Amino acid sequence: MNCPYCGSSDLRVIDSRHVEEDNTIKRRRECESCKKRFSTFEMIQEASIIVIKKDGSREFFDKNKILRGIVRSCQKRPVSTKQMEEIVSDVEKHILNSPDKEVSSNQIGELVISRLKKLDVVSYVRFASVYREFKDVNSFFDELNSIVESEKEL
Ligand SMILES: [Zn+2]
Repeated sequence: MNCPYCGSSDLRVIDSRHVEEDNTIKRRRECESCKKRFSTFEMIQEASIIVIKKDGSREFFDKNKILRGIVRSCQKRPVSTKQMEEIVSDVEKHILNSPDKEVSSNQIGELVISRLKKLDVVSYVRFASVYREFKDVNSFFDELNSIVESEKEL
């Protein structure tokens, strides 16, 4: 980064503040050469995961959006809010560890599905039916059958 006035890279941060509303860090800097001051806004790290949606458009990874989907699927089911939040942060950690901080909405769905499956079958089927967009009743029952089969094996 260089001073916008004289181009010097000799800068000093004099103030740093997290702006909650748009998830940025505002930094007030002073140029050591010309002593002029200016502000910069930086997106904070967690917003750097990009989600590729089914229609090909991109958006920033939004924890709350995923949590809302899980909460909807777990209505009146024995899954605690804490467990739901753990799924979200677990999925986030998983994506952050991937080399290219880009993920498809499908992948996110599958990551949630695999975790929800271990907690509650009904919530899992509800969530999966939204994410996988079961084309017809048959594919929905196929999924149910595969659950019943895997339960038998336990
Ligand atoms: Zn300067």
